[in-house]
Amino acid sequence: MKILVFAEHREGQLRKIAFENITLAKKLGQPFEVAVIGAEVQEIAEQLGKYGVEKVVFYKSGKLDKYSADGYAKILADAVQKQGADVLLMGATSTGKDLAPRVSAILNAAMATDCTQVDIEDDNLKIIRPMYAGKVHATIRLTSPIKIVTVRPNVYSAAEAPATAAVDTVEPQVTDFKTVVKEIISGAKGKLDVTEADIIVSGGRGMKGPENWPMIEELASLFGAANGASRAAVDAGWRPHDEQVGQTGKTVSPTLYIAIGISGAIQHLAGMSSSKYIVAINKDADAPIFKFADYGIAADLFEVVPRMIEELKAEKGM
Ligand SMILES: Cc1cc2nc3c(=O)[nH]c(=O)nc-3n(C[C@H](O)[C@H](O)[C@H](O)COP(=O)(O)OP(=O)(O)OC[C@H]3O[C@@H](n4cnc5c(N)ncnc54)[C@H](O)[C@@H]3O)c2cc1C
Repeated sequence: MKILVFAEHREGQLRKIAFENITLAKKLGQPFEVAVIGAEVQEIAEQLGKYGVEKVVFYKSGKLDKYSADGYAKILADAVQKQGADVLLMGATSTGKDLAPRVSAILNAAMATDCTQVDIEDDNLKIIRPMYAGKVHATIRLTSPIKIVTVRPNVYSAAEAPATAAVDTVEPQVTDFKTVVKEIISGAKGKLDVTEADIIVSGGRGMKGPENWPMIEELASLFGAANGASRAAVDAGWRPHDEQVGQTGKTVSPTLYIAIGISGAIQHLAGMSSSKYIVAINKDADAPIFKFADYGIAADLFEVVPRMIEELKAEKGM
């Protein structure tokens, strides 16, 4: 079974999920190669070397500097066939969600999305993915000759393993694309994305208003964490939508998720229940979030959070 890992990158930097999927491919113990699509690839080649990749194929063209859904899909489908892959591993990221179904349609390949566990059993993939907002975990087997799997970010930890990668550069036949991203206007520059963060500090309606958010931001900054929010906080206009965690927000799997003033509605849990450790701070000892939390503090957040900040500052000598 040969695996092709699609290495997603942005602004010259590979996304963390690319390294995680390379680590997963190695863990599966099957031969694997990596495909990168883009215009400038020098820096990317250097980054891949650290993770034990032996073969990389760059699909390189000046026309590929901006993402095109149909263009990238055609090139990637071609890559799967040219590189003779049976399995295509991608990230369950915004790009992965956009691209994987298109590649699947071109190749008539079965697809499993947002997977949280991938193993090999009886010469086939054994895949686990949450369904129905995380209420059940389905075990899936794909039966088509080519299989496409998108993996939830942060589920597998990327492990460095230096190797020298053989690099092939292919100039794909690039014709006019139907859709091209002209410009990306990013939000706050340098802001850590919740889907890639190892620690997330999230606030909910219990925060009472946006004027209290500096407390969450300070705690997050002391932890080196990203800021998250419940939909109640986003709908109220207290926080931007890119911070929303949950069924209609982002799905996250950090090592540590701190939920502050969040009740733990099923739609919020759908986005964060695969976090490794969950800490909840809520004044209602019966709040549903405590059923899922590894550590819970049943108290007023306006007393607990300032104390946490004080303790962390003291620990850091600030
Ligand atoms: C189709 C659909 C999709 C949805 N998608 C999402 C989604 O993506 N993400 C999401 O989050 N929700 C989503 N929701 C909404 C979800 O059902 C909840 O309404 C929402 O998660 C509640 O947010 P909350 O926990 O911040 O607010 P609440 O449920 O109001 O909880 C606030 C909590 O704060 C606690 N609190 C109050 N004051 C304090 C204090 N001083 N100290 C400590 N604790 C305090 C309270 O005890 C309470 O538990 C969706 C709903 C639907 C129907």
